[in-house]
Amino acid sequence: MTTAQEQRTAEELKALAERAGRELEDASALDVMRWAVETFGDRFCVTSSMEDAVVAHLASRVKPGVDVVFLDTGYHFEETIGTRDAVEAVMNVNVLTLTPRQTVAEQDAEYGPKLHDRDPDLCCKLRKVQPLEEGLKGYQAWATGLRRDESPTRANTPVVGWDEKRGKVKISPIARWTQDDVDAYVAQHGVLTNPLLMDGYASVGCAPCTRRVLEGEDARAGRWAGRGKTECGLHG
Ligand code: SF4
Repeated sequence: MTTAQEQRTAEELKALAERAGRELEDASALDVMRWAVETFGDRFCVTSSMEDAVVAHLASRVKPGVDVVFLDTGYHFEETIGTRDAVEAVMNVNVLTLTPRQTVAEQDAEYGPKLHDRDPDLCCKLRKVQPLEEGLKGYQAWATGLRRDESPTRANTPVVGWDEKRGKVKISPIARWTQDDVDAYVAQHGVLTNPLLMDGYASVGCAPCTRRVLEGEDARAGRWAGRGKTECGLHG
């Protein structure tokens, strides 16, 4: 990465994101990843919920040893932590586990137990949004596994967009993929997936806020079900 690239201003990054969003709308996920790595080098990372390792796998094909950021909220299923450990052990990526400022016990002491039931927005802010914002500080761009077909709230996800809140380029290389595309990629490349996906969970988040989906529900219907909440604040 050149000094000029290192010193890009927010305005330059935003313009770059908007241009790439138009030009890469129809590009393959791998070509989007190639563009991201060529454009941002070490100032680019992948974030993963460890639902599967598809985006991490795509990135590692272009940039072996790529940074993969995982938020350990303290409330994950053991299967999710196991998937993180397996990704770290067998894939050529650099897993970076971010943790909230407070442990669950410390949060319970300050806010009372089960904040996720009483104020899930605050709980997500403390355990997801703040750690991610701190973790992304050294990067100009981050990649996510968001897909348009996951839920109505994600239907307009750009392949490359501008994350105004964080002043970063936000890249969703598989935004246009369907679940069938994901399944085909996993099968073709032997990509690690969270075992809960085989146990009725279509989207995997924190244990207290995730249930299995019912027939006919969209993939994210099992997240914060009945609490009027559909996103954790990382993507909106
Ligand atoms: Fe807290 Fe639930 Fe958000 Fe996890 S998903 S941070 S437990 S509210």
